[in-house]
Amino acid sequence: MSFWPYYGLKQGIQTTPWPDGEDLSPGLSPGRPLSAPVTAPEATAALCPVGALQARAEGVHVAFDRCIHCQRCRQGEHALPWQEDFAWTVAAANNQGPLGGRFYESLNVLYVDAGACGACVNEVRLIDAPAYNLHRLGIFVTATPRDADVLLVAGPITDAMRTAIRKAYAAMPEPKRVVGMGVCAVNGGIFGESFACAGGLEKIVPVDWWIPGCPPPPLAILQGLLRVVGRAVPQMTEEGTP
Ligand code: SF4
Ligand code: SF4
Repeated sequence: MSFWPYYGLKQGIQTTPWPDGEDLSPGLSPGRPLSAPVTAPEATAALCPVGALQARAEGVHVAFDRCIHCQRCRQGEHALPWQEDFAWTVAAANNQGPLGGRFYESLNVLYVDAGACGACVNEVRLIDAPAYNLHRLGIFVTATPRDADVLLVAGPITDAMRTAIRKAYAAMPEPKRVVGMGVCAVNGGIFGESFACAGGLEKIVPVDWWIPGCPPPPLAILQGLLRVVGRAVPQMTEEGTP
């Protein structure tokens, strides 16, 4: 017997039990910094290269929708506390609410890369890997907007992709929802707004949900998609909410 079949049989089923059970595998998520009272707020805020930390009288506030997970604020004397979660999805201003029960077993997702750096698409790829197995949750990936219930977009929306996203959105049947994943989709991230990119998905189409992170890990993406259909999943605590 060759090595890989033997290895697979020996390991058994390795798909995560989440969301029905807790996934205790190490390295599931880079986690996130938490707003906290610190002795030197200015010094802690100065650690952040993208302005995600704001010094306030009561301590440091984390704007998680800007955080690129560089982890500079995780170590040293001015470090912030970290939370190892991945329930990061938050409702956007134009949120229309969950799609509801008839999508519980069949949610079709169209993923569009709108100038992402490559890391976001890698995480999207992983939700189809055996460890995460999106199909067990009734989630499927489609290549056409005509079949899509959800438009999932990563990247800062480069000029070349503006029209493509508008057309894809227009071609989707109702009811439909839009999810922006990664801080680039939220506000341009490290690319920002420029002559070359819109600096955020909301400038192109109405958005229902944001999944911040840089990139958000696979379980954060699945948590977001389950929120789109309205399934009960853990949600981000108030602290650190974008
Ligand atoms: S981990 Fe996030 S909040 Fe902390 S310094 Fe890096 S980008 Fe800023
Ligand atoms: S959010 Fe981060 S990982 Fe995703 S495309 Fe932007 S820079 Fe890359």
